[in-house]
Amino acid sequence: MNLILFGAPGAGKGTQALELAKSYQIPHISTGDMFRQAMAKHTPMGEEAAKYINKGHLVPDDVTIGIVKERLSNSDCQNGFILDGFPRTIFQAESLEILLQELNKKLDYVIQIDVAQDALIQRLTGRRMCKRCGASYHIIHRPSKVEGICDECGSELYIRKDDNLESVQVRLETYLLQTKPLIEYYQKKGCLVTVDGNQDIKKVFADIQCKLGDKK
Ligand code: ADP
Ligand code: AMP
Repeated sequence: MNLILFGAPGAGKGTQALELAKSYQIPHISTGDMFRQAMAKHTPMGEEAAKYINKGHLVPDDVTIGIVKERLSNSDCQNGFILDGFPRTIFQAESLEILLQELNKKLDYVIQIDVAQDALIQRLTGRRMCKRCGASYHIIHRPSKVEGICDECGSELYIRKDDNLESVQVRLETYLLQTKPLIEYYQKKGCLVTVDGNQDIKKVFADIQCKLGDKK
């Protein structure tokens, strides 16, 4: 199954993607995670991306499309994939369509996780991320069992540099201007399904599974 998880920053894409990847045995492809890995390794691409990411701006389309192209061509995407955080612009969506045609793949669903704007700020400023596996926690809504330690892999949790209030506000504005128009784009393509992301994590997951039905 070929999926896009779509939503504003903090909507819960990464949280749901982790569960979906386990359940459907398909890779979770997060452009944000890929950039953060490159930044941690100080690769030239990581250094370039950091200039944008730390301020809350989007990384230029050519860089982003390039890494997705390489990743989707991997053999582990044969049975499907979950894209998280890509596409984020109309140009990226159009490029993805061409890329999928080249790879002889078809998009099955774009799952929009819809969350109220005020909840997003609270979610992002209280987020804690795993340094190793990228699992996402929240100081109130989803605390780890042991403070500061990932339940999934036992690694240390950290606060993302771009989860400060100033960057969060820029990211939410960028979402409204550049990314939200994709809702209409995918509605017109007939592959958009929407779930209420204001509910608790388990209920959101159950709703997504319900929308996907028996399709594997
Ligand atoms: P995204 O990948 O869309 O930016 P995350 O999955 O990282 O979002 O979630 C953002 C924050 O909100 C995290 O701290 C996460 O633990 C928390 N969160 C995710 N889903 C929910 C939910 N349904 N209710 C409350 N908090 C949530
Ligand atoms: P995320 O982990 O999805 O919240 O992404 C973190 C940051 O990485 C974003 O704020 C952007 O700066 C950058 N980024 C991730 N995905 C994309 C994308 N598809 N296009 C441009 N920038 C991106």
